[in-house]
Amino acid sequence: MDTLISNVTVVTMNEKMDVLFGAYLGIADGKITYIGKDVPTEQPKTIIDGTGMVAMPGLINCHTHLPTALLRNFVDDATKTEALQQLLARQSKIDERAGRAGIKLALAECLRFGITSVSDLYYSPEVTAQVAAEVGVKANIALAATRFVDDSEDFDFETDPGCQMLASTVEKWHNYDNGRIKIDAGIHAEFTSNHQLWESLSAYAAEQGLGLQLHLAECAEEVADCEERTGLTQAELLNCHGVFRVPVTAVGCAHLTETEQKMLGKAKASAVAIPIAAAKQGYAPTPITDCVKAGMNVALGTDSAVASGNLDMFEVMRFAALQTRQAGGDSDVMPAAAPLMMATVCGARAQGRANECGMLKEGMDADIVLVDFSAPHLLPCHNVISSLVFSAKGGDVAMTMVRGKILYQNGQFPTIDLPAVVAEIMEYAIPKLMKEEV
Ligand SMILES: [Zn+2]
Repeated sequence: MDTLISNVTVVTMNEKMDVLFGAYLGIADGKITYIGKDVPTEQPKTIIDGTGMVAMPGLINCHTHLPTALLRNFVDDATKTEALQQLLARQSKIDERAGRAGIKLALAECLRFGITSVSDLYYSPEVTAQVAAEVGVKANIALAATRFVDDSEDFDFETDPGCQMLASTVEKWHNYDNGRIKIDAGIHAEFTSNHQLWESLSAYAAEQGLGLQLHLAECAEEVADCEERTGLTQAELLNCHGVFRVPVTAVGCAHLTETEQKMLGKAKASAVAIPIAAAKQGYAPTPITDCVKAGMNVALGTDSAVASGNLDMFEVMRFAALQTRQAGGDSDVMPAAAPLMMATVCGARAQGRANECGMLKEGMDADIVLVDFSAPHLLPCHNVISSLVFSAKGGDVAMTMVRGKILYQNGQFPTIDLPAVVAEIMEYAIPKLMKEEV
């Protein structure tokens, strides 16, 4: 046994939602090899004292745009249209070097807040894959395709530069380190691309066994515009072009019809609710309970640090429950266990990782978070799951481990030189992004 976490409260998130008190968690070769109340007989190489701590599965952030952490709080009070214009202008200046620094900062923030796996949708999948590989997190990385193919164009997956960038990233990075890194196909959104691209990307994803990430029905205007233009709703239109033949992670899903929700449920698609980012931008929330009733898997995400302010999934869990209860008029419309389930088990399902993480269970990867329950706002603890959702904050995370390797512990990031990353951002990235063209 490599590591033993002793005398800890274990929130397993297993099928029975077992919570064990004063328990032991054993780890060997990156896997959980023991969970129980008795001291295991095998001697560990390292012991982590879990007294006063809660061990839970690593949180899964199913929607980010990591490099844009560089633009956090840059356009917080601008209208949607102004913000988009300003962001696009600055984002276009993020080169590989600046992007790398932004991704490292965002991943440090994720680890600090107990996130062990992220789904990322952006334009530089290879750089994101390199950094995620180096840092040690799990990641499903998609290239956000944005392209209108003209009918007169001779479009071919084999010659299109964007498609070829995806294909070369897949060749190099898909299933890297026994599947720690996965590459997904990606479509930025219905309104930033068209059918030749959708058909081509979904056919390629089906052939390669990839998932596909996209933004879907996030705001009312884009949905109305699609119907006016095509006579179909967004999901109906995308479905006509084969997009849902592969496991899709659809971010937003705030304005789907019941028929669309059912169709996506049947297609085993996952909806990602981004409650804080939606609220911050003035968008409607994802109707989580309706999507679940329609058979969809619902996961949670922060969206970018620009859209949400930070990448704290504890805040996202709490806000998802608060918003759903407020809309539903009572507390029982969403029990505390539901957002925790969405941020772990359902997130793993959305990422195609249900067999490896999302629960603390013997045989699963040791993607484990320790939360320090000694702070005043976590005392007394009458119900651990409720405390994790309604009282804990990302800053209460004391340790984050992926496959048995500690990636964050008590202020330290063993795989990230954070002061160097901050210096790179301040001295290189920010001057580059903020330079006004003359
Ligand atoms: Zn997004």
